[in-house]
Amino acid sequence: MSAPREIVVATGNPHKVEEIRAILGPSGLVVRSLDEVGGACPEPDETGRTFEANARIKAVAYAKATGRTVLADDSGLEVDALGGEPGVDSAIWAGAHGTRAERDARNNVKLAERMRGIPADRRSARFVCCMCLADSAGRVLAETRGAFEGRIGDAPRGSHGFGYDPWLWLDDAGCSSAQLSPQAKNARSHRGHAARAMVEAIRMLG
Ligand code: IMP
Repeated sequence: MSAPREIVVATGNPHKVEEIRAILGPSGLVVRSLDEVGGACPEPDETGRTFEANARIKAVAYAKATGRTVLADDSGLEVDALGGEPGVDSAIWAGAHGTRAERDARNNVKLAERMRGIPADRRSARFVCCMCLADSAGRVLAETRGAFEGRIGDAPRGSHGFGYDPWLWLDDAGCSSAQLSPQAKNARSHRGHAARAMVEAIRMLG
């Protein structure tokens, strides 16, 4: 099996495409978004109950639909005090209606409510990202996982990034994930770890 030279990132989230392009691009891979390749195919139902399963569902479905090598990711926030919630439901935790920005805002309000009264030493949390690469026939070529550990802060801070970034507090950096520059976030984020592992996995394909 030989390594692909061009991959399509199967996400409608432009932040994710940029984060992934910044990491995979320098290895010589051409990274395209679904929009760039006219990927108007039906969105598969994310019926998996793990990040791994959903990444695989998306990679295989979009690879078959576009006839290209596709990289899909599934990611989300796991909060230990909430038994791992919102987990695979992160994007639509407070409802699936509205724009991405509206969903993010509602999710963050719900997180604040659910975390009220939980002491600092029980607020551990992490972003998790699973990636799956599938070839044009829908065969899985590689799967990777990355995590980004922190804790849920006492208030949202910062305006970079997206989703729950303002809430993930990083003790060592003394700031939230939304206060990191895009470069600094890529260097330590779940998606950064999974993407760098994917660069290595692609290299191993030959
Ligand atoms: P996905 O698009 O199905 O992978 O869902 C990801 C959801 O998890 C997003 O909508 C965000 O709510 C959350 N999430 C994933 N990665 C991040 C991140 O880097 N920062 C903030 N929130 C994230």
